[in-house]
Amino acid sequence: MHPAASRGQNAQNRPRPPKNRDNTPPELWNDWRWQLQNRYSSFEDYASWIQLTPSEAKALKGSTGLFRTQVTPYFAELIDPQNPRCAIRRQVIPVASEFIDNAHDMADPLGEDSHSPVPGLVHRYPDRVLMLVTNVCAAYCRYCTRKRWVANEDADMPQFQQALEYLRKHKEIRDVLFSGGDPLLFPDAKLERYIAAVRAIPHIEFVRIGTRIPAFLPQRVTPELCAMLRKYHPLWMSVHFNVAKELTPEAVSALGRLADAGIPLGCQTVLLKGVNDSVPRMKKLVHELLKARVRPYYLYQCDPVLGTAHLRTSVQAGIEMIEGLRGHTTGYGVPTYVIDGPGGGGKVPISPDYVLARTEEAITIRNYEGKSFKYYEPAKRSKVTTARPSKAEPADGM
Ligand code: SF4
Repeated sequence: MHPAASRGQNAQNRPRPPKNRDNTPPELWNDWRWQLQNRYSSFEDYASWIQLTPSEAKALKGSTGLFRTQVTPYFAELIDPQNPRCAIRRQVIPVASEFIDNAHDMADPLGEDSHSPVPGLVHRYPDRVLMLVTNVCAAYCRYCTRKRWVANEDADMPQFQQALEYLRKHKEIRDVLFSGGDPLLFPDAKLERYIAAVRAIPHIEFVRIGTRIPAFLPQRVTPELCAMLRKYHPLWMSVHFNVAKELTPEAVSALGRLADAGIPLGCQTVLLKGVNDSVPRMKKLVHELLKARVRPYYLYQCDPVLGTAHLRTSVQAGIEMIEGLRGHTTGYGVPTYVIDGPGGGGKVPISPDYVLARTEEAITIRNYEGKSFKYYEPAKRSKVTTARPSKAEPADGM
């Protein structure tokens, strides 16, 4: 059942987007190209059904200088038009705070431009590269790290042939991540040309794709796309979900098709104030991801991008989030919390401190319940043989 079908009486009476699943023929609603062509973008598009706050109205009306606002009809249906604190709405509808730049905010917080030997290729780590193949997305996230470039029609476009030449010359590169923008917005044939060209380079061991398509536009994950992708194994995919509500039946089916095509799926989630910064919300998200065959992979501290301070939490909130998950739920459901080092330092894992004391002899640790335990270092133990079973008593109990 779609969440819309299970909503209570109040929810059923809510205004709906002008193009919704009930007034659109299924053959159009399920067509990813129709979804793209019918995206909402202007103040008028939203004002007709969302009770906009003065802050949202100001941002939408004065949006010339802001990052693009565009949402697919499918994703718009998840917005609560009567609740400005809706976690979906906060991710895609701008507010006036976006006009404010804080002292340490940056246009390019990860220093990608300075690590880019070829337009569209970022070489920051020794053995792998990021290929930004397009700057177009199905919808636009207000916290986007690359909003200096994504959806910017004046920006330099990726130079794929130059990037290929670079890959051929750099034999230390074994792993290529396609990202953007969203690579899955390419038509199948074009995406296949790109993947095949990269995989034809002998020292490239595998390709990864970073995408938010299963959340914004699951209709794009067609059987034909999956059949094409499965020809290029090993192929990994990082999807991007921030709240459990995004895991609709359509999204879960799309993830199932990708998993059935043999593609290992990991989720990258951004920790966002008022969106997913509570342990129960995050736990619900990771549980729904595991049910959809997706491993929660990274939880990102939101990058210090210009105009995003209102969406950032403290680092302490991130540490407490991991503390609230580790031991309290399935280990597979606990992502690695990372800060991407501003300026281009790469991902640095940040973890709660579980070490209470450390000596040459032993380490004292605490578990998720706060109980402490001592683990003795092997080299420092004495009389280890006293604990061994006798020859008549095999160690494995057989
Ligand atoms: S999908 Fe990714 S690249 Fe596109 S706007 Fe969102 S965060 Fe940015």
